[in-house]
Amino acid sequence: MDDILRPSPLSAADKKRLDDLYAMIEREAATFIGYPCSAIFDYRALYPFLSHPINNVGDPFVPSNFHLNTHVFEREVLEIFGELTHIPADAFWGYITNGGTEGNMYGIFLGRELFPDGVVYYSEDTHYSVSKILRCLHVRNIMIKSQPDGRIDLEDLRETIRIHRDLPPIIFANVGTTMRGAVDDLVGIRQILDDLAVHRSYIHADAALSGMILPFVDDPQPWDFRAGLDSISISGHKMIGSPMPCGVCLAKKVYVDRIARSIEYVGTLDTTILGSRSAITPLFLWYAFRTVGLEGFRRRIKYCFEVADYAVAELGRIGRNAWRHANSVTVVFDRPAPEVISKWQLAVQNAIAHVITMPHVTRERIDCLVADVARASSVALGAKGNA
Ligand SMILES: *Cc1c(COP(=O)(O)O)cnc(C)c1O
Repeated sequence: MDDILRPSPLSAADKKRLDDLYAMIEREAATFIGYPCSAIFDYRALYPFLSHPINNVGDPFVPSNFHLNTHVFEREVLEIFGELTHIPADAFWGYITNGGTEGNMYGIFLGRELFPDGVVYYSEDTHYSVSKILRCLHVRNIMIKSQPDGRIDLEDLRETIRIHRDLPPIIFANVGTTMRGAVDDLVGIRQILDDLAVHRSYIHADAALSGMILPFVDDPQPWDFRAGLDSISISGHKMIGSPMPCGVCLAKKVYVDRIARSIEYVGTLDTTILGSRSAITPLFLWYAFRTVGLEGFRRRIKYCFEVADYAVAELGRIGRNAWRHANSVTVVFDRPAPEVISKWQLAVQNAIAHVITMPHVTRERIDCLVADVARASSVALGAKGNA
């Protein structure tokens, strides 16, 4: 590098700001149990790649003019997810996204391109980003009621589709809702389509967290391509864990071929939503599968369930109505006092809160949370008693 191009070293004041920021993150990491992002990963072996302007622009299955890419590794990760989700080999296509939201946008995009007059149906418990995606894509949509446990209300879905029978349904199904970890009844949904003789339909699954749980349990709810999906989105920074958001989106290739455009500038097919894409996150995911392995993830998930059951029992012991769905690591309980929510970074919605027992959440941390919840509620009771 020419000397006039060289950056100057960071000032002492700036260096201190970074040190303070790092100290804050280390401190807060000790009480990080409310969001579904695993903190157990170590990608140091890949850091040398961060010294190059790598970029996975374009379709991972098509060569491009931009050679500083990791498409070969990206495809290996996609193949693993193809097996985990049982996508038919002849239909297989996918790419590594920036996270669950992008994969959901992609699925709805494919559905709308297939059926421009389609209507998207999604439950009240659907992730908050979906209503924004629907606005971006300007697609007709109808929100369906949820059952109290968080699954889509099939009666409401049936009646609503019946009224709009002339328009192809694009079903946005939840495989693990954000707040309650509920899995929509895909068998029931397909039964409705059959009963109403709907022959043109599209089903996308949002499996942000559970898409990396259900492949590793003995008795999964129907959730993958065998249950009739057309596309699926799974987050990478949740159960696998990554310091940079990422995810995978898989879709049947015939739908992708409809939207593909050939671009001379990058010498490849523009089949993805974003242009430039991370080339390091595919390596993170590949490295995780190579070092943790499928058996390792199975063990991790079993551990997560054990800690989840422990949390249900301990929160129940202090009277906080705790429960979880089968095959879910999301433990729902009565909304605690604001200081507990803030300290433990808990996600809340109306009367409920949840902890998510990701692999880094230990029984000891649950004990500390439960002690805080008990202490705060006894203080609140005491205050009421004095008033
Ligand atoms: C986290 C989550 C999302 C969004 O995923 P990002 O990776 O944060 O974009 C979407 N749906 C569900 C159910 C989620 O839990």
